[in-house]
Amino acid sequence: MRPVADAGHREGGCLCGRIRYRAAEPLTAITICHCTECRATSGGTPAHTSCAADGFALTAGAGELRWFPGPTSETGGERGFCPTCGSYLLFRIDGDARMYLTAGSLDDATGIPFDTHIWWASRAPWEAPDGRPTIERYD
Ligand SMILES: [Zn+2]
Ligand SMILES: [Zn+2]
Repeated sequence: MRPVADAGHREGGCLCGRIRYRAAEPLTAITICHCTECRATSGGTPAHTSCAADGFALTAGAGELRWFPGPTSETGGERGFCPTCGSYLLFRIDGDARMYLTAGSLDDATGIPFDTHIWWASRAPWEAPDGRPTIERYD
């Protein structure tokens, strides 16, 4: 039996496999982000979860991951991509104690609850309510 102090971890990575990471549990509930930047960079509405920033580690491709600042981010948010296959993997905010992960980049997201739609006010015209809570915006 695993010691209580070791809550375990999950692993994930990009489509081509060059970039791999490990994220310490517990991961936060999944949010779907409807902000304009996420839509433009991912082509849709990415699902994010997060772990403690000090519980996150790149286990392959650390020198390859490319960070791109969000041009309209007031919090200095940056997105991390694989430069070889283009996968959107990570989101970080300067000074934030969390590292945000795209839930779709996890090898296995089983058991992580889906919680909330965020930036709902800027959702795309094709997105309809599904009964889950929404947060209109952050300001
Ligand atoms: Zn890749
Ligand atoms: Zn977003």
